[in-house]
Amino acid sequence: MRKSIATVSLSGTLAEKLTAIADAGFDGVEIFENDLLASPLSPEEVRLRAADLGLSIDLYQPFRDFEAVPADVLERNLRRAEHKFAVMERLGAPRLLVCSSVSPDAVDDDALAAGQLRLLAERAAEHGIEIAYEALAWGRHVNEYLHAWRIVRMADHPALGTCLDSFHILSRGSDPGGIEAIPGEKIFFVQLADAPRLAMDVLQWSRHYRCFPGQGGFDVAGLVAHVLRSGYSGPLSLEVFNDVFRQADTARTAVDAMRSLIALEESVARHLPQAAALAVPPGPVVPTGFAFAELAASDTAELSGLLTALGFARTGVHGGKPVELWEQGDARILLNAGTPERDPALAAIGLESPDPAGSVKRAQALLSPVLPRHRAPHDTPLDSVSAPDGTALFFCRTAQPDHPSWTDDFTGVPVDAARDEITRIDHVALTQPWHHFDEAALFYRSVLGLRPHESLELADPYGLLRSRAVTGADGAVRIALNVAHVGSHVSHPDTPWQHVALACRDIVATARRLRALGGVLLPIPGNYYDDLEARHDLGPERHRTLRELGLLYDRDARGEFLHLYTVTVGRVFFEIVQRAGGYDGYGAQNTPIRLAVQHAPADR
Ligand code: MG
Ligand code: MG
Repeated sequence: MRKSIATVSLSGTLAEKLTAIADAGFDGVEIFENDLLASPLSPEEVRLRAADLGLSIDLYQPFRDFEAVPADVLERNLRRAEHKFAVMERLGAPRLLVCSSVSPDAVDDDALAAGQLRLLAERAAEHGIEIAYEALAWGRHVNEYLHAWRIVRMADHPALGTCLDSFHILSRGSDPGGIEAIPGEKIFFVQLADAPRLAMDVLQWSRHYRCFPGQGGFDVAGLVAHVLRSGYSGPLSLEVFNDVFRQADTARTAVDAMRSLIALEESVARHLPQAAALAVPPGPVVPTGFAFAELAASDTAELSGLLTALGFARTGVHGGKPVELWEQGDARILLNAGTPERDPALAAIGLESPDPAGSVKRAQALLSPVLPRHRAPHDTPLDSVSAPDGTALFFCRTAQPDHPSWTDDFTGVPVDAARDEITRIDHVALTQPWHHFDEAALFYRSVLGLRPHESLELADPYGLLRSRAVTGADGAVRIALNVAHVGSHVSHPDTPWQHVALACRDIVATARRLRALGGVLLPIPGNYYDDLEARHDLGPERHRTLRELGLLYDRDARGEFLHLYTVTVGRVFFEIVQRAGGYDGYGAQNTPIRLAVQHAPADR
């Protein structure tokens, strides 16, 4: 399918937007009127610029409040339209988007609306221009796509068709199945946007919270399948009004947008396997576990101390780099002292991939930055991509037959045995730059084939933490994506914490040992335990144990979760967790407690 995007979806000047849109691989563009009005480029210059970039101008938009009005208003509206047609001829834009009226002048009269739109189409046709009539979800009299289509059919003019906008259709809960009854050649344009499911005024929802397909809660792919069944063969065009995207990097948002359309086409192909127009990238290779988490710091002494306290043993050193391998059970942590300028940070994650080369092919097809391999000639080749927050994701295999293992690059060192408490990495939590949160969810879903869960908002003493988990089907890979909205607080400019959560065999025993060591675990306020007793009846003895050991507790419909946190080193801390009975969460209920203690450990 041809891919297009409305300039309103991106930040920057019109010239910057066109360049970014072309660089991301789009075929065409919708010119949003305000972008043109504010541009120093004349319509002829915009036309040339787009042509030079290989972009077709598919649509000019929006034209508002035209139809079903008294005669004197109609005269003014036609005059207004003639001015737009003149601009469009200079631009070389073949199609004008006309939104259903929100004006108090409009009357509820389909025949009148049809007659006036026919008149508009006649005038447009004289300029070689087509009219695409769209039902706004908040249109005064016309707010359903089938209603707009009935008016278009009644008007019966070859230069008049309808424009379908997934947001306007799905936000109202309309059944998109009706699209199949519209002849494809009368669908003049298709605009796509997703949105999180929010209970709010639909206009505000549309203007501020639209996002790219796959980032929200709508079944955009299902809608597009209906569109294709109608016989529509025009472009799929993104029209996204989003407060965050308006501020984010133009080129990066354009790539994110294109990634969403590639993933969308793949999803549509699942509905319509025979549709020849759909390009399908190589399928995702879903990671099957964590191979390692890599912590980087100029001085790793504090991290080594913490790992030792947790019962890890240093088992190997890298042949060519200042990197150590620490192990306990199947949990592997790399300590990298080769990054002089950094506070301790979670720099990379190793994901077990059944097909590392396939993982990279998938990432490339979805426009993810594949990282160059820095390695000595004898090192095991490691394929990696950069995640939206800059974390390197390595695709690897650990100690499997017929495949080199990344652990072969480490020379074993004599060790005291590791403890037998930690069994594996349960999850990692990464802090996302705030304007890349939606991009991150789409990245992990589309590139790695992980499933995004609900987005949560959690209280931080100095702001708000948004959190969204992405997981593999069996829960072997769990990544929590966090974004901290605390940027403007003077004393807490940023909370870029990341953590590695470790599954353990017996969290009560581990907690008891670590509490006895002192200085390892985060203290939890007594108020938390008073409230926990109110929320859950776990029996007096269990409540006493939780309080005494500073263990946090959560439960869901399936089971229980016990967890605790270590102190923070640089940007990093560890969490120790024990899941019981199929608990599938992350103790989000307790996150505000953790954040408060981390922000003010000495506050009493
Ligand atoms: Mg629209
Ligand atoms: Mg956690």
